[in-house]
Amino acid sequence: MSKTETSRLLEGKTALVTGASRGIGRAVAIELAHHGAHLVLQGRVAGALEETDDAIRAAGGSPATILPLNLMQSDRVDAMGPTLFQRFGHLDIFIANAGVLGALTPLAHTTDQIWQHTMSVNLEANWRLVRTLNPLLQRAEAGRVVFVSSGAASGKKAYWGPYAVSKAGLDALARTYAAEVASTAIKVNIINPGPIATAMRAKAFPGEDPATLPSPEQIAPMFIELCDPNLEENGATFNGREWFVAKKTQSD
Ligand code: NDP
Repeated sequence: MSKTETSRLLEGKTALVTGASRGIGRAVAIELAHHGAHLVLQGRVAGALEETDDAIRAAGGSPATILPLNLMQSDRVDAMGPTLFQRFGHLDIFIANAGVLGALTPLAHTTDQIWQHTMSVNLEANWRLVRTLNPLLQRAEAGRVVFVSSGAASGKKAYWGPYAVSKAGLDALARTYAAEVASTAIKVNIINPGPIATAMRAKAFPGEDPATLPSPEQIAPMFIELCDPNLEENGATFNGREWFVAKKTQSD
């Protein structure tokens, strides 16, 4: 990855972040705005997105565009491309961050509802977003897409079935899209953030002290590196743990 050298690296860029109401997505949205991007904030609850917008403005960013919708409503997801086209004509950055943990339970006990909910938000919505946003990303000078995956995608842990399968599918989706746009200006990559202190992490590990984990604000600069217009990598996976080690080594 290249280094982010100026704080206005993304001046004039339009960036969509899904799941921008809290956790990693909120912190990444604020970081993108800090680097000059205009944000389109997606999440289910308008009030929560407005709080992210307040934080962006308080940090000196331009007022964001609020796009409240449930990613399980496929018709509304499909309409996002045309909506953003009318407003902006193109899209420079797409951070596919929204996700759900589902339930940690044996496959044999997984309900239809949990399976469908997890696949719908973590996987199907991202395919729909690729389909509806691709024409806008193609119209950008240097379209950048970051999918937020998980180490759980390896499928090595018992009881993480729906989440692991959805993230493994997301990895395949991301790499396929990267291959399809390889001859264009678009770069598509994956971040596996590693453990980050958010509501999702607390749900998965209720006994853990969040103070022992990196915060969403600490991982957010990693995303900026993958939105750099000069980025060359495409179809790669970047791990938060390794990124934190490299950062520490640089600062020592
Ligand atoms: P949070 O639970 O804090 O945030 C999840 C976000 O996704 C929220 O903004 C939420 O919005 C949004 N979201 C969930 N369901 C929907 C839906 N149906 N429609 C629209 N938006 C929805 O999680 P994190 O910040 O921890 O997770 C962000 C990403 O990082 C996820 O993809 C997760 O799998 C991944 N990840 C996280 C790790 C961690 O340790 N935290 C580790 C590895 C991966 P709303 O306000 O509408 O609920």
